[in-house]
Amino acid sequence: MQIVKTIKEVRAIVKEWRRSGLTVGLVPTMGYLHEGHQSLIAKSAQQNDRTVVSVFVNPIQFGPNEDLEAYPRDIEHDMKAVETAGGDLIFHPEPSEMYPPHFTSFVDTTETTELLCGACRPTHFRGVCTVVSKLFNIVQPDRAYFGQKDAQQLATIRRFVRDLDFDIEIVPCPIVREDDGLAKSSRNTYLSKEERQAALVLSRSLKAGHDVIEKGERSADNVIKVIRDVLEKEPLARVDYVEVVDFCNIQRTETITGEVLVAIAVYIGKTRLIDNFIWREE
Ligand code: AMP
Repeated sequence: MQIVKTIKEVRAIVKEWRRSGLTVGLVPTMGYLHEGHQSLIAKSAQQNDRTVVSVFVNPIQFGPNEDLEAYPRDIEHDMKAVETAGGDLIFHPEPSEMYPPHFTSFVDTTETTELLCGACRPTHFRGVCTVVSKLFNIVQPDRAYFGQKDAQQLATIRRFVRDLDFDIEIVPCPIVREDDGLAKSSRNTYLSKEERQAALVLSRSLKAGHDVIEKGERSADNVIKVIRDVLEKEPLARVDYVEVVDFCNIQRTETITGEVLVAIAVYIGKTRLIDNFIWREE
């Protein structure tokens, strides 16, 4: 397992692999890796001859009052985590390597970014799409791996890959959870013991929503109400959004039909957590 910091080095290594006829998978991350990230790396290692993991806390996807400085970082830990999961190369650039002076070109995807996290984080997805397309151009992978944990991000990346003709297969990966149901996230480290317990309300509320859909409820409003009722009983929780959207377009749907994304964002204390499930009509 190798780690490099420059675009030039990544390109040289990938070029050698390509010359030997090897396939390449890419797993973009912001580091502080956990079993969720490792499931993406392991899947890539299964499906490709070589796997590149980028570890980069991307400044342009953070808003002015968000947690860019506080975001947890531990590259020594990440190196071990990538190695264990079967990754071959870590790309760990400095912000100045990715964003040279006068950096002024962005990838901006509309529609899928209007609601959910896009509504309260107006420049977030522009930052994500820009860094991911740079990583696609740097690594030129055959496949790239994204977690359903960030379902709106997954839908948005699929959209710009289609719209801008990137010749890369986007592979979605299921949400990895703690034993008690909390979706694994690097941001879980912000939670105090009491908040960690309170955070279980996210998966609990989604289960309640899922249960009523399974029993035949098809009104999005009614499902949203069921989820909100559970969330609002937790004193440490403050709801940011509860939405039911078409998973392809990330636009609201009144009726639960086809493939819908049920997504929530909830503050537990000062920490904003997201979770979701996708429901597919038989
Ligand atoms: P991040 O480092 O948070 O930007 O995440 C990097 C990638 O890992 C994204 O595609 C995430 O969706 C994915 N990911 C993060 N947490 C999980 C999880 N609990 N289960 C599955 N994938 C995850």
